Amino acid sequence: MNSNTKNSCVGFVSIVGAGPGALDLLTLRALDRIERAEVVVHDRLIDAEVLARIPPQAERIYVGKASGAHAMPQEKIHEVLIAHARQGKRVVRLKGGDPFVFGRGGEEVLALQEAGLAFEVVPGVTADSGCSAAAGIPLTHRGLATSVTFLPGYLADETAHLDWTSLARPNQTRVFYMGVERLARIAEQLIAHGLSVETPAAIVRDGTKQTQTVLATSLQELVRLAPGYGPQPGLLIVGEAVALSPHFDQTRVQIPVKPQAPVFTAADRSSLRRIIEARRDMRHFVPGAQVSEEVITRILSAAHHAPSVGLMQPWRYVRITDAALRASMAGLVDDERAATANALDQRGAEFLNLKVEGVRECAELWVVVLPPDDGTVFGRRTMPRETALCSLGASVENLWLAARAENLGLGWVSLFDPQRMSDLLKLPQGAQAMGILCIGPVPEFYAAPMLEQVGWRQGRAMQDLMSENVWVK
Ligand code: SAH
Repeated sequence: MNSNTKNSCVGFVSIVGAGPGALDLLTLRALDRIERAEVVVHDRLIDAEVLARIPPQAERIYVGKASGAHAMPQEKIHEVLIAHARQGKRVVRLKGGDPFVFGRGGEEVLALQEAGLAFEVVPGVTADSGCSAAAGIPLTHRGLATSVTFLPGYLADETAHLDWTSLARPNQTRVFYMGVERLARIAEQLIAHGLSVETPAAIVRDGTKQTQTVLATSLQELVRLAPGYGPQPGLLIVGEAVALSPHFDQTRVQIPVKPQAPVFTAADRSSLRRIIEARRDMRHFVPGAQVSEEVITRILSAAHHAPSVGLMQPWRYVRITDAALRASMAGLVDDERAATANALDQRGAEFLNLKVEGVRECAELWVVVLPPDDGTVFGRRTMPRETALCSLGASVENLWLAARAENLGLGWVSLFDPQRMSDLLKLPQGAQAMGILCIGPVPEFYAAPMLEQVGWRQGRAMQDLMSENVWVK
């Protein structure tokens, strides 16, 4: 793909790594491309000294992403690069560090390739090499660290899956890009998976620049001190070899009496509250959509984590995969709705307008069943059925919340004639189907409960549902 960079008339894109900041950590090749650029498309983290090397007559296009806010979507960046190259320009795409380390350089290469344009990639000193050298932290060191792993901090978010077990093993260096903001969660996961709270760890900010600062101490101390320790960008390095840094502050390391139990952070709590408040009883689903087996295992596992008296787990889920069976169930629901509408008299027609196509359209159709009482006495001597039902409800709620966290909707369809459902599912004597669960992708989550939105009824105020010591009407 590389072609003559000097006097191309079809345009040429150099994807250039600008290094971690210090001007003299630019490669000679990078400097050459910058100084001969006609158009420079650059990110936020490029140091002013580096930007000063762009020729004054060159056009500068800023596409940087201020933390959180995306100045320009990636596809748009591709368009900008392609458009200018097609005008025959020498385009430099200037990126912090190395273009191929958490820089989306690969995506840009693919876009240019697809557009049939000539390009090259000029490597840069990645933040990790820059920061570790500048802070005196060897990334590998005989006896202390035999491997280095580069990780993007956002992988520590709830939905992603990092192999924490292997990351928590000793004698390795873990480097988190974009990780300082998520330090608490990263530390919590590493510690929960067995890493010692005393493991040396560092935050290097503005690595290699005049303004560089290094905070190096034990992991648990770092979590305590980091919030008061300046703005981004910062690189988080966790591993025994951090102790070799001249910045490593032994005096700050406190030997804990016993390891701390994993704690939930404010961010964890706020995510959970969002999931709870955004959970809805869904009736509209995306027809023909699917849910991956991996997600199904996760939400099912949430359901089976529900509390139950004496660990009875009085719930069973029957997954309906047979199309004919689903059709029979939909028919059964239609019959039951007609009967309910009849019983409702005046509001019957209004009731029938409430959508239930979920049974036909949802990706996953499950039935939750109360199993026969198996006679185990422990914890179930009083009100065994009611207690079992409460546990079953808790299990469905766990499933519901876990599904919402996966951006899946769940709709509960209640049953009026459990016998017909029992027959369909060939349930044993004493078992009872409690509800049909429609699960799957939805066009959108209702902003408020649907029954409220369609004016069926308003939810009650919280204070009306709570009283102190004695029942208040
Ligand atoms: N492609 C870049 C990384 C981009 S991701 C590279 O190879 O370095 C951006 C993250 O890199 C920041 O959130 C921060 O974690 C890290 N980073 C970049 N420059 C840095 C610097 N000078 N000091 C500390 N961390 C830096």
